[in-house]
Amino acid sequence: MRVLVVEDEIKMAALLKRGLEEEGYAVDVATDGPEGLWMALESDYAVVVLDIMLPGIDGFEVCQQMRKAEKWSPVLMLTAKDEIDARVKGLDSGADDYLTKPFSFSELAARLRALIRRGTLPRPTVLEVGDLKLDPGKRQVWKGQDEINLSPKEFSLLEMFMRHPGEVFSRTRLIEHVWDFAYDGTSNVVDQYVAYLRRKLDKPNSLTYIETVRGTGYRLRNLQH
Ligand code: CA
Repeated sequence: MRVLVVEDEIKMAALLKRGLEEEGYAVDVATDGPEGLWMALESDYAVVVLDIMLPGIDGFEVCQQMRKAEKWSPVLMLTAKDEIDARVKGLDSGADDYLTKPFSFSELAARLRALIRRGTLPRPTVLEVGDLKLDPGKRQVWKGQDEINLSPKEFSLLEMFMRHPGEVFSRTRLIEHVWDFAYDGTSNVVDQYVAYLRRKLDKPNSLTYIETVRGTGYRLRNLQH
């Protein structure tokens, strides 16, 4: 399995390279944006670990250019704590997941394994699950022919579900992905926003798009309402 690490902090890059090699990956390292993009376009990597702040062109641009060139290697973005909108912007640019620095190596390795399992499927820019459609770039959502107006948080939450249909998300994982890293409120906020989404999406007395998985969290059903 070949992995590309694009990271300009030499220490961090070396740490990732050594750790991933110990996990059995063949690791290439690029230390700036243009080099990273070039390497990502030249080879088919099982997964790309992409830092956002890079010399030359940033990680968002690298990812966008990859997707434009129809390179679908899964991308895990590394964001700094203060890059508040990075997660949303990263997902908009075609990244598959992100991790906030500082992170544990075992967490990174687990995320990479999950991304590699999912493989390099072409991903359309507009997400479709059942009769729901979501355009991350235009920030629009439709149910059948009807456009649904969502608040930014509702949108991010639905986007997370639609990128991983059928996958069960714990409240903690949803908070980590949709709310800020620094968010220290209770996980009730997730329940509250799921309720908002249900109110906007579901028909009365029919199955809900967002199913409660008892004791675990939530998952999105593939439904035609
Ligand atoms: Ca950097």
